[in-house]
Amino acid sequence: MKIICIGRNYAEHAKEMKSEVPTEPVFFMKPDTALLKDNEPFYFPDFTKDLHHEIEVVLKISKVGKHIAEAFAHKYYEELSVGIDFTARDIQAQCKAKGLPWEKAKSFDGSAPIGKFVKKSELGDLQNLQFDLSINNELRQKGNTSDLLFSFDKVIAYVSQFLTLKVGDLIYTGTPEGVGPVAIGDKLKGTLNGVELFCFEIK
Ligand code: MG
Repeated sequence: MKIICIGRNYAEHAKEMKSEVPTEPVFFMKPDTALLKDNEPFYFPDFTKDLHHEIEVVLKISKVGKHIAEAFAHKYYEELSVGIDFTARDIQAQCKAKGLPWEKAKSFDGSAPIGKFVKKSELGDLQNLQFDLSINNELRQKGNTSDLLFSFDKVIAYVSQFLTLKVGDLIYTGTPEGVGPVAIGDKLKGTLNGVELFCFEIK
């Protein structure tokens, strides 16, 4: 399986990163070794001093597809969750400054914690999903999918022009504003429409 992540998909986050608001989706990938499941602890890597949380709604691909039309994209995912796109912000800044790829900053082991999946049919309007991240029971980030620059279906149509999507692939759909650092000992809790889907500790 592969993990596809959309960058700058909420205008307010693009602004806080002092990045341009994109006119087409930006995507990058993480390997399967990035996945962190079942509330397992995340071990703070020693190559960064500025590890940031990015809470994101995640789609799980349920059907193989290439060149998927936007109008049919909803048939290619049945379950959603929330996850974290962990980012070594200091390393990312160095990569950006040199025009280098982001993998060192984004794709390391454990950099994609994922919560329990929920059936699409249980979530109601997918274009009005509330999601948030609390750290040590304090709200740190909250978003609503009504603010997405590129909807789930647009993202699937776009990415599938380049990559064949396969069953079990995950798409992290972008983070809203409010990203910030995490520290050893923090407990991160993610919810979707008020339901807790992950809770894990940084060690
Ligand atoms: Mg992200």
